[in-house]
Amino acid sequence: MTPAVTTGALLARLLRDPSRGERVMHVEHVPAREGRPVPWPAWVPPLLVDRLRLQGVTEPWEHQAHAAELAHDGRHVVVSTGTASGKSLAYQLPVLSRLLEDEGATALYLSPTKALAHDQLRAVRALHLTQVRAATLDGDTPREDRDWVRRFAGLVLTNPDMLHRSLLPRHSDWSRLLRNLRYVVVDECHTYRGVFGSHVAQVLRRLRRVCDRYGAEPVFVLASATVSDPEGSASRLTGLPVVPVSSDASPRGATAFALWEPPLQDAYAGEHGAPVRRSATAEAADLLADLVVENARSLAFVRSRRGAEAVALGARRALLESVPELADRVAAYRAGYLPEERRALEARLQSGDLLGLATTNALELGLDVSGLDAVVLTGWPGTVSSVWQQAGRAGRAGQEALAVLVARDDPLDTYLVHHPQALFGRPVEATVLDPSNPYVLGPHLCCAAAELPLTEEDLALFGETAEEVLADLVERGLLRKRPRGWFWTSRERPDADLRGVGGPPVRLVEAATGRLLGTVDHSSAHSQAHTGAVYLHQGASYVVEALDLDEAVALVRADEPDYSTSARDVTEITVVEPLRSQAFAGVTLTFGTVDVTHQVVAYLKKRLGSGEVLGEEPLDLPPRQLRTRAVWYTVAPELLESVGLGWTAQPGALHAAEHAAIGLLPLFATCDRWDIGGVSTALSADTGLATVFVYDGHQGGAGFAERAYADAAAWLTATRDAIAACECAGGCPSCVQSPKCGNGNEPLDKDGAVRLLDVVLASGLGAS
Ligand SMILES: [Zn+2]
Ligand SMILES: [Zn+2]
Repeated sequence: MTPAVTTGALLARLLRDPSRGERVMHVEHVPAREGRPVPWPAWVPPLLVDRLRLQGVTEPWEHQAHAAELAHDGRHVVVSTGTASGKSLAYQLPVLSRLLEDEGATALYLSPTKALAHDQLRAVRALHLTQVRAATLDGDTPREDRDWVRRFAGLVLTNPDMLHRSLLPRHSDWSRLLRNLRYVVVDECHTYRGVFGSHVAQVLRRLRRVCDRYGAEPVFVLASATVSDPEGSASRLTGLPVVPVSSDASPRGATAFALWEPPLQDAYAGEHGAPVRRSATAEAADLLADLVVENARSLAFVRSRRGAEAVALGARRALLESVPELADRVAAYRAGYLPEERRALEARLQSGDLLGLATTNALELGLDVSGLDAVVLTGWPGTVSSVWQQAGRAGRAGQEALAVLVARDDPLDTYLVHHPQALFGRPVEATVLDPSNPYVLGPHLCCAAAELPLTEEDLALFGETAEEVLADLVERGLLRKRPRGWFWTSRERPDADLRGVGGPPVRLVEAATGRLLGTVDHSSAHSQAHTGAVYLHQGASYVVEALDLDEAVALVRADEPDYSTSARDVTEITVVEPLRSQAFAGVTLTFGTVDVTHQVVAYLKKRLGSGEVLGEEPLDLPPRQLRTRAVWYTVAPELLESVGLGWTAQPGALHAAEHAAIGLLPLFATCDRWDIGGVSTALSADTGLATVFVYDGHQGGAGFAERAYADAAAWLTATRDAIAACECAGGCPSCVQSPKCGNGNEPLDKDGAVRLLDVVLASGLGAS
């Protein structure tokens, strides 16, 4: 048994060295929360209550019962509460109650991954309800099992891809399931975002349409991580009014959450002599070693497998110097291990035999440990909800746990460690998608017409752009109008690729073995899978030997060079049509359609660990054309001059503000900084003014720019604060330098960007 460790002791130990104490920007004491149990709803059959009690669920938490009541009453509902708050019970109660009472009723459960569907199946089977015939349906389901599911299953656990590819096109085979469909559960619905989310939104509309023809009108129950505006996202995803339940009534242990910023180093210089921070990986390794010395069972999350190994190795090395007998109690947890090996590591950590474990973020969901003393997050994991997911691994009953977020050198991490409210206050990140994207909608209208002819009434279901997109499909000869509606006339089945738009996905193939590792969507291939790129796939590192765009193949080899790569692109943008606009004193903010031409021209190599720039390699890739959505703001010349930004100073200030704005948008819209791009210019041919554009990097747009427009005041305030918070003198990767800048990060004016954003926000935009 591990002796008790107190967070106070841990923190004190970490801060004992004053030079390190300065790296702690903030400590938030997240208090424990008492659970609020309520009685079982009266309509839940006693059998189900008994079986749940046998599983240790004595009573539901208030939010579970509330969501279950709403669904039982026929209201569409989204439960948006924390990790481990028991969202499953919220849909199990109405769904299983119904299936127990009505032998013919059916329900669909959709999850983003096969593994999660299998987990849920295990959970339902553990209740031993023989009347509930539950089964999974995915690409691996053998044919004979599939027949059984089709004919007999009451609860079908599947995924949007199967709906799209198998169930909807062959709906008459599935008529029993569809006619009796009472509930559709959409689990982890925050993962349906961007282009993928927009596709899934259309698949759900197709499902609703087909159900309607079979006379069924299922109730949707969605489960989401804690995000801003869950009802808005859930309504967009389903096209239905959805009631949110977001008051978490499950108990939680107390956590001390420290925000940690690595120091600037003197030894290395980055681009244009910019200072470079000590890497988050090196800091995390030291932290893990310190925690092990304190006998704290700790887990470190790292982005790549290589990074996880570097953290484990660094911690061992530090221990060999200080307390050598502890060095063997640190390990790395990785994808390559067999399940038995992983379970063994988990068990050793749980028992305290192993004290420090470093793992990749990719394995987060598969990891089975909890109740640890401390968790170290090496860099922002991509969304605020995953921060809580990871931090939630720490915490034992009656004792405060420790979580540390170590910032990487980019503007978003910098902002978070200096602005704790963004993490600990009300959630600001929203799950963003755009079902009206014509490039997404078009293929789904074809699929829908092939399933059942499209009628006038159907158009309302597919949204306001449906009419226009339909007219285009008719003109292109893909659909034909007949008295009973629009028909798909080709012999071949139409298809839509749920993972992308604007071209076939590029396959990643291991050159030596011919093994297919996965795919990268066409629009990301230029920047992520170009020749020479270091590509991370599920935490493992590969180098791209050659990208063949005609064949849509990238040949890769497993390799772990001591550098990372980032593609640099140059962009031109023209305004096609402003859609929404707001004018302030000297500043105009607009959301609209744009044409973007961008070209990946080179890539930059940066040494892992130190962040030192090793060089830049040119690339020969064709330009890409996109019609997409953008948000842009213009600033009047008088306003710029009033803060000392004359003609020659403007480009650097606008450019720096553009870079940081791109870096910060992922905090508000669930996107990656590689999903968006920007252009800044002191004199735009379209607006005739100094202008900063930020655009969606996907054909037709994915909702990111729209979200930026809707929350521009908060987004630009955060951008301004991130730049101002960075202690560097003239701009660095933690504030205004961008790894993807096609202009080699020139010109950049850090102070000018702060003054620029100050006048923009003072124009009235900041108050909107
Ligand atoms: Zn800086
Ligand atoms: Zn740039």
